[in-house]
Amino acid sequence: MRVLILGPQGSGKGTQAQRIAQTRSVRHVATGEILRDAVSAGTQLGRRVAPILEKGDLVPDDVMVDLIRQRLEHEDGFVLDGFPRTLQQAEALDAMLEEIGKPLEVVLLLEVSDEVALNRLLTRSALEGRSDDAPNVIENRLRLYHELTEPLIERYRERGALVVIDGEPQIDEVTAEIERALEQRGRTRR
Ligand code: AMP
Repeated sequence: MRVLILGPQGSGKGTQAQRIAQTRSVRHVATGEILRDAVSAGTQLGRRVAPILEKGDLVPDDVMVDLIRQRLEHEDGFVLDGFPRTLQQAEALDAMLEEIGKPLEVVLLLEVSDEVALNRLLTRSALEGRSDDAPNVIENRLRLYHELTEPLIERYRERGALVVIDGEPQIDEVTAEIERALEQRGRTRR
């Protein structure tokens, strides 16, 4: 199964993506995590992107597209989390998946209000100490989501791939809702 999960920071995207990957036995491809790992490991990529992550800005599209290509090329199934974030990335993803004959099957949108997203991120900041969860950086990340990533929703809606999920209930409730949506997708595709 090839799933893309969209939603603002703090929507629970990462947690839900991990669960889908586990139940469906597919790879969870989370670009934020890949980049943070590169920063911790001090690789060339990590050194290049560290100041960008620190500010909550976006890593250049060409860097991200190369990174994703390497990860997806050999996967039959995946849950994509954190990519695409811009129109250019979405176009590159479409071309790439078409080329390898593995189009997206479903796009999940986890919807939460800005208030809920902000509160969750501030809690995560206190618990995990992620430096890009500091209040001024969070604001920048949410602004970039609304400005650059949200417009992608229409693209997938028009294609009939979008399923909107309320991301505000308890984690397990959201997981159950996602499972129902994926089951239903699976049935209508058969
Ligand atoms: P995330 O954990 O998805 O919120 O990502 C953490 C940070 O990694 C973001 O604030 C960006 O700096 C960077 N990042 C992750 N995915 C992308 C992407 N697709 N395009 C550009 N930057 C990204």
